[in-house]
Amino acid sequence: MNPYRKDFPILDAAVKGRPLVYLDNAATMQMPKQVMEAMMNQQSCFHSNVHRGIHSLSELSTRRMEEAREHIAGFIGAESASEIIFTSGTTAGINMAARSFIDTFLQPGEEIISTQMEHHSNYLPWRETSPEKQGVFLSCPIDRNGDLDMDAFSSLLSPRTLIVAVTYVSNVTGAVNPVKEIIKKAHIAGAAVLLDCAQAMRHEKIDVRDLDCDFCVFSGHKIGGPTGTGILYGKSEMLELMKPVLYGGGTVREVTDRVTAYEDVPYRFEAGTPNITGIIGLDAAVSYLENTGIENISETEKELLSLTEEILAASDRVNILGKPKERAGAISFTVDGLGSFDVAKLLDTQGIAVRSGHHCAMPLHQAYGIDGSVRISPAFYNTPEEIGQFETTMKRILGMQCTMHN
Ligand code: PLP
Repeated sequence: MNPYRKDFPILDAAVKGRPLVYLDNAATMQMPKQVMEAMMNQQSCFHSNVHRGIHSLSELSTRRMEEAREHIAGFIGAESASEIIFTSGTTAGINMAARSFIDTFLQPGEEIISTQMEHHSNYLPWRETSPEKQGVFLSCPIDRNGDLDMDAFSSLLSPRTLIVAVTYVSNVTGAVNPVKEIIKKAHIAGAAVLLDCAQAMRHEKIDVRDLDCDFCVFSGHKIGGPTGTGILYGKSEMLELMKPVLYGGGTVREVTDRVTAYEDVPYRFEAGTPNITGIIGLDAAVSYLENTGIENISETEKELLSLTEEILAASDRVNILGKPKERAGAISFTVDGLGSFDVAKLLDTQGIAVRSGHHCAMPLHQAYGIDGSVRISPAFYNTPEEIGQFETTMKRILGMQCTMHN
């Protein structure tokens, strides 16, 4: 029996009269009851605003939020809690980093390198913002296996490169990028690196100091925390120089009719009332990951993913996207003669939840000459039996498709 399932009440749900088989964890991981309880406790016992009140509840809120910051800083190996900015998710974190970094540092003609395998959230913020300062956006291609073309990457790097924005793990193929090598090469060229760790957090032990990345971004809901939470980590020496992006309450030390004196980092980047309940939940999700062990999670998910890959590879009408050197978290495929939405809908009739479409990674799908795929992304609470149910249903779908085409 999988020891983790008891922590996830939703796994007992039924969909279309069948037990839910939730294989859409790259989109959102389910929430363990420990996280729900932490948020319920916050709402029931100390719900109040932070930093503003002198009363006891507000002091407790402030303390708990700052403890969460310390905890998350330790979890990712940051040097200081002041390097942790609370955001509403990966998309918000990358937008904030891109806006502020470009406004602060970009000089005309300087280049930003992103990649063909990025989620739109680590592609568009750079591509849309860089022209405002006459910056040049470049996209590093992938090879047929779905790995980043490292020769192309090396030739794109130059003294003009200001920053490299790259994902640790692809949300479509599950390709794991050689991020240490990327960061090393980028730094030699004098460029900073932002790592999109949205998919990587459950699979890799992230240590930002060991990786030496300049920024690291992730979302709470992909690690069992609530939606609307996330982290932007930035090296202190970077954040200290960077301009705020959102203006308002909580970001300033003093405002006169002429002068604004900003707070220290990270507060100057956290305008307005933060998602306090969400942050308490994110903190509890991090505790859950720590208690479960990233190695255990990663190992279980890798086994389930290999099993899925074997099942898919057994059919000559299924085309798996890429064969990367290392795959984590997700695998995507197309079926000859059937659209990705059709496959996902048919799986849903049996209670099996998967993702279909372009997964917010259109440039990657264009590289394969397709407009969408079906994605399977097991989590550590899934079981080989559930993958077996997926196999049985896929066989039926492929059988139906054969009948339809004969
Ligand atoms: N980057 C990657 C690699 C992702 O997989 C996702 C979400 O699927 C995002 C960014 C965006 O995350 P969010 O929607 O939580 O902002």
